[in-house]
Amino acid sequence: MAQEKAGEQMDLDGHGHRVNPVFEEGYERIERFDPARIDRLSKHYADVLEVIGENPSREGLLKTPERVAKSMQFLTHGYEMDPAAILRKAMFKEDYSQMVLVKDIEVYSLCEHHMLPFFGKAHVAYIPDGHIVGLSKIPRVVDAFARRLQVQERLTNEIRDCIHDTLQPLGVAVVIEASHLCMQMRGIQKQNSVTTTSAFTGIFLADHRSREEFIKLIASKLH
Ligand SMILES: [Zn+2]
Repeated sequence: MAQEKAGEQMDLDGHGHRVNPVFEEGYERIERFDPARIDRLSKHYADVLEVIGENPSREGLLKTPERVAKSMQFLTHGYEMDPAAILRKAMFKEDYSQMVLVKDIEVYSLCEHHMLPFFGKAHVAYIPDGHIVGLSKIPRVVDAFARRLQVQERLTNEIRDCIHDTLQPLGVAVVIEASHLCMQMRGIQKQNSVTTTSAFTGIFLADHRSREEFIKLIASKLH
């Protein structure tokens, strides 16, 4: 494929796995960490343990700085991904011009204010204008933006804009419903609150019937 970067075909581990970009194919790639970055992060987390009053050399904590470092690298691996490229590689010419909806996409992200998780579901729809995209790519675009430090509002807009700019459909609709641990575990402790954000382009903005159809479809339990 013309747009593939040379590095993506490299077989660095000798097992036929492509190594770059990191994490592209899901869980089997998670263990490929950047040792220099893990080392640096681990030192900082050892310091954090001490500052909060822990003893970093007690048995249970010996490997904790390294584990947290690896976990943090995984939770922010979206920085290594190019969401537009994910879409571009799987675009097809097609005459279909009805709504395409991928709902209940799991979202796990970290709020950029507290670096605590927020998580929930994303619902993404678009109305094609000559091109469709492989369905599995939509959740991957969601993940590429979610696996960074985020605020839910920006995450919603970034998913919308990426699909709109890359696929150039007649319209894009994104709704995210998420719970924020920074609200639930600290501060006002609103245990069960869910935050909903939405973002629309094109037909979904101009035509309230398209928007209502989308809302009706994501609320229904047909599956
Ligand atoms: Zn927060």
